Amino acid sequence: MKRTGSTKGLAGFILLFCILIVIGCALAAQNDRRSGMNMPLADRHAGAGIGPGEASDKPYKIMIDPGHGGKDPGSEGSGGEWEKDSNLALAAKLYDLLKQDPAFEPRMTRTDDTFVELDDRAAMANDWHADVMISIHGNAFEDKTVAGTETYYRFDDGLRLADIIHKQLVDALGFEDRGVKQESLKVLSLSTMPAVLIEPGYITNPAEEAVMLSGDGQSREAQAIADGLKQYFGER
Ligand SMILES: [Zn+2]
Repeated sequence: MKRTGSTKGLAGFILLFCILIVIGCALAAQNDRRSGMNMPLADRHAGAGIGPGEASDKPYKIMIDPGHGGKDPGSEGSGGEWEKDSNLALAAKLYDLLKQDPAFEPRMTRTDDTFVELDDRAAMANDWHADVMISIHGNAFEDKTVAGTETYYRFDDGLRLADIIHKQLVDALGFEDRGVKQESLKVLSLSTMPAVLIEPGYITNPAEEAVMLSGDGQSREAQAIADGLKQYFGER
């Protein structure tokens, strides 16, 4: 009887030992997963980084970049308004929309009429480890009849984001679809996450400028971009 008792004691000890090993392995696995976040950002262009869907408990970091500002006014619209102002107005609307959604954490590269270097805009997104960067502009051309929506990306990892947001903007505004284009724009080239630059319409075209300066038009643009982001992250 005494022997049985000591065997039970040994079995209990072995069981406890096994439980401790299982807990140890689980903790180690969790640490491995977290260390994926420290992967060099350059690798994320190759799709090697942790996918947004895997960090579902954290909001997606959206860097909103209103183009131009301060001494750099951007293009002049057909009514004499500067591009930097309509860019900022749309960016602020998008910020407010995303702020209401717990799935997103928005940030802006400028919140007032300040000049910010392109390098600094990209660095802000990179240092913050933003999940995506959206640079907001308005198109311009000497021929006032030229019109339509264009969206740019630089690296392949930005193409799907560009496609989705572009389609949402075209559907929301009803402007001519001038397509998604790959371009070595500096703010896109220096950003290490999927990054796009949107040109919802031509501010040199009076009809498009009127929409882009109106509260209703800006709300539709902002909603289209927000819907695009929901679709982008939801599909991953
Ligand atoms: Zn611009």
